[in-house]
Amino acid sequence: MLPFLRPDLAQLKAYTPHPASAGESLPPAIEFDQLDTNESPVQLPDELKAKLAWTYQHTIATNRYPDGGHDVLKQAVVEYIQESSHDSSATFTTSHISLGNGSDELIRALLIATCLGGAGAILVAEPTFSMYGILARTLGIPVVTVGRSDTTFETNLAAAQEAIEDTQNPPIRAVFIVHPNSPTGNALTTAELDWLRSLPEHILVVVDEAYFEFSQTTVVHEVLARSNWVILRTFSKAFRLAAHRVGYAIGHPDLITALEKVRLPYNLPTFSQAAAHTALLHRHLLLDSIPALLQERSQLITALRQFPQLQVWDSSANFVYIRLKSPLLKPDTALAQITQEMKIQGTLIRHTGGGLRITIGTAAENQRTLERLNVVLHQGNLVE
Ligand SMILES: *Cc1c(COP(=O)(O)O)cnc(C)c1O
Repeated sequence: MLPFLRPDLAQLKAYTPHPASAGESLPPAIEFDQLDTNESPVQLPDELKAKLAWTYQHTIATNRYPDGGHDVLKQAVVEYIQESSHDSSATFTTSHISLGNGSDELIRALLIATCLGGAGAILVAEPTFSMYGILARTLGIPVVTVGRSDTTFETNLAAAQEAIEDTQNPPIRAVFIVHPNSPTGNALTTAELDWLRSLPEHILVVVDEAYFEFSQTTVVHEVLARSNWVILRTFSKAFRLAAHRVGYAIGHPDLITALEKVRLPYNLPTFSQAAAHTALLHRHLLLDSIPALLQERSQLITALRQFPQLQVWDSSANFVYIRLKSPLLKPDTALAQITQEMKIQGTLIRHTGGGLRITIGTAAENQRTLERLNVVLHQGNLVE
């Protein structure tokens, strides 16, 4: 360890979205079905890519810094959330929006604005999106974890309440929750929402709606009444723009002002702003494909339930979560082995939280997922 580095960084690992295990020999040039990071299985349609190429050629000045205020894109985001808020009396303005280099940047900005320098700890219910904990730890922010029900994945609210009331130093300043949760796919229940609403104003409630376009359940209108709630959304999933790194936060104007202070000044490249704007202008074209994807999801779930070894949950998002039924001695060893053998077969899936998360792909990819799982689960050499 270099002597000028913070000693606590030695305990942390860099985030690797597609972890490779040592010594594996995969066929060269194999085309993986990438079902481990919950992206859309399809790109932007060619006509939108062509529009963006035209924009790049004719309107983007490559020698100039991007618009650091994101005015045009913020206005388009306002129109979109207004349209999708389920509450026509809700009125959002650009003062409610901050744009980030992916929602990851906004998560970091929220952590800096609330907890940095010993000011606070965060609370998460595991299993959940790993980035909250990863980003908090890189900033030296403590992470308090509570569990979830093994059957419904609802947050253990008694434990959560106890953690909040616990006089600890630093106190919990922010609760991060995904709606619907990743990797487990469940939306917030009435009990969870009531608990979040009961939290005092000095605790920030972050509701990450990365999968909103698939679930169509949102609590975005609540931010207008609650100064301590913030919603995160992203262009990385339903909008097919993971390559461009654009996310946004919707919250109280004073919170948004704080986020704008701590984010990097030119956090969003001009081309990414243009891509997100184009996606919003053509949102009906992009979002029209979601019902077919949800149909694929229910077919995949039905087919997965035919495997006697698997426990399969319903999902409100673009992925499914499964666990092994039999009480294996080392479930994580078996799950790691399944993940590895699926990879050798050509399908990437995610081993996390004591289960497997599989993104809904194209019809052909989902078919291969089933065929390959069938092979892997019947090889009979799974570690017992
Ligand atoms: C995919 C995902 C995001 C998106 O992150 P970006 O940085 O915007 O790509 C955010 N939150 C959750 C829970 C996710 O699963």
